[in-house]
Amino acid sequence: IFSLITISTMNAQKKPHLDKKKPIEERIDLLMKQMTLEEKVGQMNQYNGFWEVTGPVPKEGNAELKYKHLRDGWVGSMLSVRGVKEVKAVQKIAVEETRLGIPLIIGFDVIHGYKTLSPIPLAEAASWDMEAIKKSAQVAADEASAVGINWTFGPNVDVSHDARWGRVMEGAGEDAYLGSKVAIARVTGFQGDTRADLAKINTIAACAKHFAAYGFAEAGRDYNTVDISNSRLYNEVLPPFHAAAEAGVRTFMNSFNILNGIPATGNSFLQRDILKGKWNFDGFVVSDWASVREMIAHGFAKDGAEATQKAVIAGSDMDMESYLYVVELANLVKSGKVKEALVDDAVRRILRVKFELGLFDDPYKNCDEKREKATIGSKANNAGVLDMAKKSIVLLKNAPSPLGRAGEGILPLQKSGQKIALIGALANDKNSPLGSWRIASDDNTAVSVLEGMQQYKGNQLTFEKGADLTVGKTAFVDELVFNTTDKSGFDAAKKVAASADVVVMVLGEHGFQSGEGRSRTNLDLPGVQQELLEEIYKVNSNIVLVLNNGRPLALPWAATHIPAIVEAWHLGTQTGNAVAQVLYGDYNPSGKLPISFPRNVGQCPIYYNNYSTGRPTNGEGNVFWSHYTDVEKTPQFPFGFGLSYTTFDYKNLKINKTAFAKGESVVVSVDVTNSGNYDGKEVVQLYIHDDAASLARPVKELKGFELINLKKGETKTVTLTLTDKELGFYDNDGNYLVEPGTFKIMVGGSSDKGLESGFELK
Ligand code: BGC
Repeated sequence: IFSLITISTMNAQKKPHLDKKKPIEERIDLLMKQMTLEEKVGQMNQYNGFWEVTGPVPKEGNAELKYKHLRDGWVGSMLSVRGVKEVKAVQKIAVEETRLGIPLIIGFDVIHGYKTLSPIPLAEAASWDMEAIKKSAQVAADEASAVGINWTFGPNVDVSHDARWGRVMEGAGEDAYLGSKVAIARVTGFQGDTRADLAKINTIAACAKHFAAYGFAEAGRDYNTVDISNSRLYNEVLPPFHAAAEAGVRTFMNSFNILNGIPATGNSFLQRDILKGKWNFDGFVVSDWASVREMIAHGFAKDGAEATQKAVIAGSDMDMESYLYVVELANLVKSGKVKEALVDDAVRRILRVKFELGLFDDPYKNCDEKREKATIGSKANNAGVLDMAKKSIVLLKNAPSPLGRAGEGILPLQKSGQKIALIGALANDKNSPLGSWRIASDDNTAVSVLEGMQQYKGNQLTFEKGADLTVGKTAFVDELVFNTTDKSGFDAAKKVAASADVVVMVLGEHGFQSGEGRSRTNLDLPGVQQELLEEIYKVNSNIVLVLNNGRPLALPWAATHIPAIVEAWHLGTQTGNAVAQVLYGDYNPSGKLPISFPRNVGQCPIYYNNYSTGRPTNGEGNVFWSHYTDVEKTPQFPFGFGLSYTTFDYKNLKINKTAFAKGESVVVSVDVTNSGNYDGKEVVQLYIHDDAASLARPVKELKGFELINLKKGETKTVTLTLTDKELGFYDNDGNYLVEPGTFKIMVGGSSDKGLESGFELK
């Protein structure tokens, strides 16, 4: 021990920034004093893991050169390094072979788990259960940190109104208020509750992405143009980012899109004025993958030097995989085109997070094979993701059926004496349920729905796939491998359906049909699945449709004809167990949609907090109201909607006063009764509408919710409070206004209906 202390004292003398007792800002000063310009630029440079350096990468991106740069101290971070062995190998070079021994910060897309996977983030948001979401992020941090990962590129806090966009699966849906709560849960789940928690060995730094407005890509086509008003930006896009910043998120990632003509990566207004200015954010911003270089393709920079100059000036602190800062930035500083102070500021931010993570004190943060083995796939982690998976399921329809108890639907299924036909290739798929963004997890590691249902042995279960969903392999490949036209399995499926009491059909999108670069112009069941559904219906209409999807689907035929529909998304490792427990009633579903499900794709973008037109009603005989002539105006399933096996009644909506002064709290209460036959959970939602304001306000906006447990027959009074924080809005200049006037409120179990009342703000 004595000699260890002596060595560390000697180290601290030689490298005074290693003295743990000194405040972090002082340690940064001490370190930066020793750094050359090139070493500073190196901290701003992030390379992808060396394992992937094949294929068409720029000349500068070859592995040998990357290793050289690493040894020269020109690399501050690496992403997608997999496993303890690789992390240790690159970290060892950084710590032992570079002149100053500055540790790398190792980043990874831990989006919904590392190896033990939670549901896709959109599904988790459907739980409206912030504690569960936080725990799910803790499981992810636990596993990722065990293999040496310090930093996840999550949460994705992009609000989106467009189901066509493949990346809706990564976010929390269409609403900024719900999105903000989810952002806080995820950030604190990954990082811990305080900044000091970052130094723990089982936390990782989080990253709010993609800053900003990436989810508003025109027509839902990934990477496409974003052109929105500032008021929409301030009210609908930025709140979850702001919430993440206030919850202490240590990094931001910018985005690929242009915003009102300026690429996010070169956008000073976003990164300097708002994020680092107004919000006082003192962590760092990483670019998205090669987004610095993409500014050339956007026509915003003529070459790599100009792209670098614009990105650094705009506040992009770290260059992910553009290979530009490392080549251009030192020269730009030397020629006076970029002030060294900007480089210093970026480096200080990056070093700050490294110090906070404790990387200078233990660059490996106790990661080793033993911990990796004990942590990954542990019982506790599997229990955590199973709990999250059950809570993410949304019951969309359960029409009264002769197969159910009096007045009830087919669900929950009876546990014995039934013949059940399970149909659909996805029912027997162990890969697809893992969902998109699962880089580290092994293929085919999900519990399939078939496996889940087989555990209930009281019924006779027969599986027939009916039709494949994909042609050939299902790796991270193009849409074209999906959508088989082969219907040769239909007859066998019809046969088992005809002789069954109940048919459970698992249909939807393959896990890789949503995610980055996976936009769709159709929201139907891909391939021949719709045909299969209709064919089976002809022989047995007692169908429970279990949907697997990473985005809202538009299924008008199913919504009309199929008696029971369960939204099961892509639920991760424990998919089959979660689905079976819900189908058999061992878990009463409580999820609510975090995003509207349209009736057809032509309704997109469709979202609950839209603005009223000047033709707001469908008054009798008035053909001029704002609508389509061929479909109802409403979504198929609205935001906030979700059923339970029990029923809930709302009564006695009260507001503590009728008029309030600015700054006073509006206290809303309502009695909720479980009036059905099962214990259950309900998400009580509070919406407001500002009747008249200096900017038109949405028809309704979620401003509060509470998830409650109610035993059969039980009543609870739920109280929700509105303050200036909920009652105001941002104008086009970013000013937050709380204006006097009248407000309506609505409280219920969905965005489309509830009890109504109102008050005045003086
Ligand atoms: C995505 C990011 C991701 C990054 C690193 C990009 O293509 O847009 O969300 O974090 O790659 O994998």
